[in-house]
Amino acid sequence: MRKRRSALVTGGSRGIGRAVAVRLAQSGYDVGFCSRSADEAALETVRLIDEAGGRAHHAVCDVTDADAVRAFVGEVEEKLAPVYAVVNSAGVLRDRPMALMAAKDWQAVVGTSLDGTFNVCRAVMRGLITRRSGALVNVSSVIGVYGNAGQTNYAAAKGGLNGLTRALAKEVAPYGVRVNAVAPGFIDTDMLDGMTPKAREAALGKISMGRFGSAESVAELVAFLLSDGADYITGQVVQIDGGISL
Ligand code: NAP
Repeated sequence: MRKRRSALVTGGSRGIGRAVAVRLAQSGYDVGFCSRSADEAALETVRLIDEAGGRAHHAVCDVTDADAVRAFVGEVEEKLAPVYAVVNSAGVLRDRPMALMAAKDWQAVVGTSLDGTFNVCRAVMRGLITRRSGALVNVSSVIGVYGNAGQTNYAAAKGGLNGLTRALAKEVAPYGVRVNAVAPGFIDTDMLDGMTPKAREAALGKISMGRFGSAESVAELVAFLLSDGADYITGQVVQIDGGISL
């Protein structure tokens, strides 16, 4: 039997992160995940991982805090198993036109997606390289590819994540470690709660398939990119957007 492996997921208490955590538990991983809050949502993810047959570990960890991230990685390896799969899904929105954007809104978005991913990748990388195996998926966005008015902070963070993904993929490929990103379009999670009905309608009008995607569909793609079936794929940013980009 294959030795147990753990997957580490940031932002796993809700939305895409939760769907990924559960899907990876179904694939046989033990799953360590983090969020900023120790709330009902985090408990529910633990329950769902357990139901899917994996062991779960939840940590309260803000990915912008490098020391907390290092401690989170250590806990997961100590309580579960060596980390093989890593998914950076923690992210926030603070939409504002550039002229009105407070520095804290810029920092919250770039700090969570980009600095947070840097903190996590750096904390896991020595272990993955030493074991000469591992796969990472960064959850980016189509906004990082095409941009969007009112989202310069988010576009910069996600565009940066795409660059980080490609550069890191080149850096660690010789050590048997793969790095990819997924770039979702509109996915039905809490993140879209702030959209007005008018904005929803406008967004739906741009999507060829005429509907928002589900977190489970994104999780399926992430699970594939982490699997041995994707063993020759690295440095890619794979869009999952219902045809919004066509
Ligand atoms: P969500 O439902 O709002 O969930 C966000 C998750 O991230 C929560 O678990 C949240 O937990 C956690 N989180 C936020 N800031 C954090 C921090 N500093 N440290 C640790 N955890 C943090 O969002 P989602 O829709 O699943 O989004 C997940 C990822 O997909 C994000 O990177 C987002 O940019 C990307 N994405 C989403 C969509 C979409 O349409 N939904 C489209 C493209 C890309 P706490 O609040 O407890 O911290």
